[in-house]
Amino acid sequence: MMIRLAGLMLLMMIGMEAGPQLKEAFSRGGVAHAADIPMHEVQIDADEVYRGELLLIDNAHPVHEAGTRKDIVNLYIHQELVNGYGLRDTTISLSKLVTERWQAMVRAAKTDGVRHFVVNSGYRNEAEQRQLYESKGPDDALPPGFSEHNLGLSMDIGSAKAEMSRAPEGSWLSKNAWKYGFILRYPKDKTAVTGIQFEPWHFRYVGLPHSVIMHENDWTLEEYLDELKRAKSMAAHVEGTTYRISYYPVSAPQADIDVPVEGTYTVSGDNKGGIIVTVRMYG
Ligand SMILES: [Zn+2]
Repeated sequence: MMIRLAGLMLLMMIGMEAGPQLKEAFSRGGVAHAADIPMHEVQIDADEVYRGELLLIDNAHPVHEAGTRKDIVNLYIHQELVNGYGLRDTTISLSKLVTERWQAMVRAAKTDGVRHFVVNSGYRNEAEQRQLYESKGPDDALPPGFSEHNLGLSMDIGSAKAEMSRAPEGSWLSKNAWKYGFILRYPKDKTAVTGIQFEPWHFRYVGLPHSVIMHENDWTLEEYLDELKRAKSMAAHVEGTTYRISYYPVSAPQADIDVPVEGTYTVSGDNKGGIIVTVRMYG
């Protein structure tokens, strides 16, 4: 069954250049007409709602036991993953995939002369989150299971130079993180949406093309997921590749999704009853 494209179609045009970096120049394109590629319907387990890079974690949607990344590594032990930044202590752990994306970002910042990054926190297990919650209190920490840090997709990034709100590291990340799949998760002007105070240090990995779409539309993760649910499908053109992003509500133990017969796609839950399928169309 072919996906019927309904609702809002967005096309983000981003200039291409040699190499993996995205170009700064960013122009808005017209409506996407993603060429149809052969698709077929497959069944996936409803538990997929709780896995993936687009999970929303907030006070109503805690981390499901399936949600924690399976590729968590201790960065102090894996020094090969620690190039060009410091670690606050020997306990810092993170998803290996996220660490690799973070490394790409650190390399890019270095070419702009910004090079004093320190990772203050990454993945926290339940005991670590509990300890933090008990020592900091409910105003400054979230209870175990209710923090994005319990997924392994979030990082608290600091600067060895100054507080992040004033440091070149903070300013560089807030301008550029979206190009590498990261979002400033709790922006200053979105506290009413996120319910969390401005945190210039807290970055969340959502991956491409999602971080680009969110940046271009000035959407938080909450707003992006709501928009996907409403529109059912979006198209995005990022780094010369066209993506089709489709939302499926899940109510039964199994869900039917449309995926390419051949080709690349990713599946992520939203942690609140929906599954998002991102298909690489062409490019
Ligand atoms: Zn944080």
